[in-house]
Amino acid sequence: MPDPMIADRYQLLVWGGTNRDITKANNGTRKEDTAMPEAQIAVIGGTGFYGMEGLTDLEEVRPETPFGDPSDAIVTGTLEGRRVAFLARHGRGHRLGPSEINVRANIFALKTLGVRWILSVSAVGSLQEDIRPRDFVIPDQLYDHTRHRTTSFFGGGLVVHVGLGEPFCGPLRRLLVDGAESTGLTVHDGGTYLCMEGPQFSTKAESNVYRGWGFSVIGMTAAPEAKLAREAEICYAAIACSTDYDCWHEEHDSVTVDMIIENLHANVDHARQVIRHVVPAIPLDTTCRCHNALANAIVSDRDSVPAGTLEKLRPIVGRYFE
Ligand SMILES: [Zn+2]
Repeated sequence: MPDPMIADRYQLLVWGGTNRDITKANNGTRKEDTAMPEAQIAVIGGTGFYGMEGLTDLEEVRPETPFGDPSDAIVTGTLEGRRVAFLARHGRGHRLGPSEINVRANIFALKTLGVRWILSVSAVGSLQEDIRPRDFVIPDQLYDHTRHRTTSFFGGGLVVHVGLGEPFCGPLRRLLVDGAESTGLTVHDGGTYLCMEGPQFSTKAESNVYRGWGFSVIGMTAAPEAKLAREAEICYAAIACSTDYDCWHEEHDSVTVDMIIENLHANVDHARQVIRHVVPAIPLDTTCRCHNALANAIVSDRDSVPAGTLEKLRPIVGRYFE
């Protein structure tokens, strides 16, 4: 790992090969090291969550990916003694709507940094009376109701079918539930996150249908994020922060924007507290089933996969082709 204090530093993450860290040394020549992971844990912040307080030794990296640019520079730093990568899902300044987020680039970039665990935070509306504003839900199920998003890394001669029966990582979910409980928050252990396309909110007819389906919360970003994290063999769990009841609720029309924004800010503060509890508790030296999600998922004959496809996806599938 190069000295992070070297002022003239270039982070070049080569997606076609192993994760390498190329540093311009003080004498102007380039020194190339096989890098340690930049971070094994990532936090993806949603609406209102554009920076991770408490992160020290900050660096910004802009990994190149074959899918384009991530939502913003990824900020790496130390939190509770561990290296953590933070990415603002909508970009700092909230520049990207939910359908504009380049989710493949985001997940791929985190993969190239060495990330193996993702804590995802998002603002949601509640579809159930008992999930009150400012409650947290740690969902165990996901319903993808989006319509205009690319949901897979694969194709181009490489067919892969990953299992998504349990779309969120069980052990990571458990840590989030425990972390939220230990900070005194009201947390719902399990529930279904319905991901809609947006950017408009639901009609009452839609909202009532989703309630009839028994879903818990509605948001715009967990899909395809969870799917792509699974394809990238990264453990992924979400904190869904309820800002208000969706439009089905009689309270809805009396809720002001100011109230929702207050809830949003309170939720972000609470989510940061939960993350600070959870980050040191993640067992970095263990392997979860998510980390081997592709082991029995690659359908194409190894010999028939085009070299270009393999090269493009090497950080994700390379170890299965060695
Ligand atoms: Zn896992």
